[in-house]
Amino acid sequence: MDVYITNDVEVWCNGWHDIDGEFPSAFRKYIYGETDKGHYGLPFQLEVLNKYKLKSVFFVEPLFAAHFGEAYLKEVIALIQNAGQEVQLHLHPEWTDEALEPLLPNVTEKRQNLYMYSLNEQRTLIAKGKQMLLDNGCKQVSAFRAGSFAANNDTLLALRDNHILIDSSYNETYRDCHICQERPPVHFSNIEGLAELPMTTYQDYPGHTRHLQLTACSFGEIKRVLLDAERKGWQAVVLLMHSFECLTSDKLLPDTLVIDRFEKLCQFLANNRERFTTKGFNATRMDYHIQPKEPLVSNLFEFSMRIAQQAYRRLKY
Ligand SMILES: [Zn+2]
Repeated sequence: MDVYITNDVEVWCNGWHDIDGEFPSAFRKYIYGETDKGHYGLPFQLEVLNKYKLKSVFFVEPLFAAHFGEAYLKEVIALIQNAGQEVQLHLHPEWTDEALEPLLPNVTEKRQNLYMYSLNEQRTLIAKGKQMLLDNGCKQVSAFRAGSFAANNDTLLALRDNHILIDSSYNETYRDCHICQERPPVHFSNIEGLAELPMTTYQDYPGHTRHLQLTACSFGEIKRVLLDAERKGWQAVVLLMHSFECLTSDKLLPDTLVIDRFEKLCQFLANNRERFTTKGFNATRMDYHIQPKEPLVSNLFEFSMRIAQQAYRRLKY
């Protein structure tokens, strides 16, 4: 079974009121994971992945650099590619109105989500994002994920027009995901001429669906979902994390629970590499064809363990 460890890489400046003042420290936190107790951002994550010889995909958000300068984007891309990992395109159009040279004419207010833009506007934003990645050293752009999974079918058409033929924006647990299908593509589908590889979701307790994200699921749950997917004949699973996900939510300290979980996951995948192949998108043929009949499930024991872990984390931080 193929496992895509996807990492969304983005910088946020603690709101929009003083982005220039906040940016230097935001860049150090969101990219390098700087805390008083060490650095736990991208370089740390890349080091762990490489220690276990695993592949990962980094969906890098480039539009922030239309305000702060492309040297920052170049730095991020170099970090990832020099570690032998893959860069793909992530887009948060919240940055559109902050660009020093307008990305779109007449956009002077914040429009947070990609689906709020017309097909033409999405085509332009995706073209600009792709070009910014390529201009700053990215080897190839073959896959995309919308910020906050907030894509619609026009996004897929705009991607196709930009020769990006793999999308991973579908997330059935996100209300802002407006990609329509006759039924949720829980595994993989061809839609609007694209290969759609959705975020993997599972049932964490009866009647509730959760997506497979490092901070949102315990290691026990992630392992159970991987084993369940294998048992049910799934061909691929997509896991989400972020460049800043090894920090606490206030970004002040390393989150030892998540760091431990990340290490355990990498160790598990490395120890079982003949069963689980971690992959990037550039050299992969998207020819998955088996549609699963049942959803993936964890179990109530793992669910209870996670609730206990989260309570411990709240007490600790
Ligand atoms: Zn994002």
